[in-house]
Parts: sequence; structure tokens; C-alpha cells
Amino acid sequence: MNHLTEIAQKLPEYGLDAMLIASAPGERYAIGFHGEGLLLVSRSGVHYSTDGRYIEAARTQISGAAIALISPSRGHLALAGDFIRANRLEKVGFESGYLSVDALERYQKALPCQLVPAQGLLSGLRASKDPEELHAIRQAQKITDLAFKEVLNFIRPGLTEQEVAARLVYEMLRRGGERVSFDPIVAAGPNGSKPHAVPGQTTLEAGMFITMDFGCMWNGYCSDMTRTVALGQPTQEMEQVYDIVLQAQQAGIAAARPGVAGREVDAAARAVIEKAGYGPYFSHSFGHSLGLEIHEQPCAAATVDTLLPDGAVISAEPGIYLPGRFGVRIEDLLILHGDGCEDITASPKHLIVL
Ligand code: ZN
Ligand code: ZN
Repeated sequence: MNHLTEIAQKLPEYGLDAMLIASAPGERYAIGFHGEGLLLVSRSGVHYSTDGRYIEAARTQISGAAIALISPSRGHLALAGDFIRANRLEKVGFESGYLSVDALERYQKALPCQLVPAQGLLSGLRASKDPEELHAIRQAQKITDLAFKEVLNFIRPGLTEQEVAARLVYEMLRRGGERVSFDPIVAAGPNGSKPHAVPGQTTLEAGMFITMDFGCMWNGYCSDMTRTVALGQPTQEMEQVYDIVLQAQQAGIAAARPGVAGREVDAAARAVIEKAGYGPYFSHSFGHSLGLEIHEQPCAAATVDTLLPDGAVISAEPGIYLPGRFGVRIEDLLILHGDGCEDITASPKHLIVL
């Protein structure tokens, strides 16, 4: 998968002669490959330099770029400088969201051009997924759904949160997940009131809610889902809270479509939770974009005015967290398209009682 043409076409809009890319997700997006190298995309050509560890793979996997091998005397910046001079590139954009201040200083000293912060060029393109990217995300989510189905047979009283987390990882990797897209969250009972709880030695007991938030990667793209299940009969209050979170999620999903601002989607879900009196206990945003990285822009959050583009993939993950007692979160993935969205998470959403 390669997006060199799309990047080159965007350059005039940003007043740039080229885009310099060196971050792992930036490289992966641009050339479908990560070789810890340095990439320059211009309208007249593409230059990519890497080292001996990656050169063979780079030559076979990357199309549409001139590939250069660095040497002890001619490093990335020397080679990039040659390309900039040869092509008379004056204004070169850089990944201001990733490049460290130290690296920028080195680039400014070594490169014969003006460096312009241009994270928006890549982030904007990455926000709208093309069919190949959507296929990868669907594959990753399919594996994640299967792992959830499998782990339901495994969960029983006496297991620790860590054991459940380990099992989720195992089930995703053995089904073709390349790795986890983030460390899984498994939170039992009162731990569930911390949205980003770290799985520990707490043992699962009857009467507890167990929240599992997990995902994997397929061909470089992430999945992400959360389910809260009950171990044994839940109380009426637990059932009620679960139902409110589910209704909130459905309201957010109904509001999610290309062209709406992230805050509108968040507001639709938040209104349901506020109306039910749990407003202060929904302490995070409705959702985030994801793709090559687990958290991308734009988010479906109360402060975000950015419009969600066609092809955006966002999470739908409202929650209610009652400190010291229990928490509920339900998270699906949505592809925004046409006049609505497609929920690509296949796992059931009704309260599962084990
Ligand atoms: Zn998640
Ligand atoms: Zn998420």
C-alpha cells in the first residue's frame, strides 16, 4: 500500500515543493514500508534513503521511489541534501507532529531548503481511509471479534485480569493479528471504574462486571473494541447502567456521518447519559479516529469542530464509571460513508451474562 501520488498532489495546496517524512506511521502511509529511513516526496520524484538492515526489503517492496543506501560517510541528510539541490526544492514540509526539536535543528543545519511545519497534509490524508486501508481495518476487527467470542468460553471465577488479558492477546495473535494495537485493558469489578485500568492480580468473582478493551493489527492497521460482560447475575442498577451506555452508543452512531463535526457525535451520545443523571460519570470523549495508529485525528470529542471526512474510521465508545463500584464501556468501530456509517464490529452488544 502506497500513497505517494496522493501526497504529491496535495503539495500545491500547502505551498510546498516537497514533503519530508521520517516517522514510522508517516513512512508506512507513504510507501507501505517502515525502514527507519528518510523520505522526500516531490512533484518531480521521490527519494528514499535507508540503511543496510532494510535495503533489500526496501528495493523489493517500494515502488515509485528512487532508493538510496546510506554509508558511513554519506548519511540520510547528505543524500536528502543532494536530492533537494538536484530538484531545486525550496519549501519542504515536515511532520511537525512527530519530529523532535533536536532533529529539526539538525535538519535545518544540514538541508539547503526552508522547512515548513506541515503535519496537516499527512494527517488530513490519513483521516480518510481508502478501500485498501478499510480492508485492513476490517480484517483486524474480524480477528478481534473472534478473539472476544473465544475468550467468553475461557472466563470463569478465580482467573486474574492478567490471565484474561494474556488469553485475549493469544487469541488475536494465533488468528493472524500481527501484534496488539495497544496493551489490552481487563478490569474486573471496582477496577472497571478506571477507564484505562491496567490488568493486575484482581481475581474475577461472581457478581462482577468485567470490561475488556483490546485490539490487534493487520497489515499495519489497528482494530479496537470494548465489551463489558457480567460474571453471574448483575444487580438491577448494573443492568440499568449498561442499558444507558448502550443507548448512548446507539445515539452517537445514529449521528455519525461524513460532514458532521466530532463534537456533534459526542453530544448526541452525551445527551443520553446526562438525561439519565450520569453525566459526570462519562469522563472521556465518545471516540477517536484510528488507522495506522490507535489514536488519530479527528476525534469525536466535545471540543472538536473538525468535520469528519468520508472514509473516516472512528470508535464509538461511551462509558459510565462509578468510582469504587463498577464501570461499563461499549466500543465499536464505525466507517463513515455516504449519509451515515457502517458499524464493522460484529460482536453482540446486549449484556452477556456468563
Ligand atoms: Zn478501545
Ligand atoms: Zn478506542
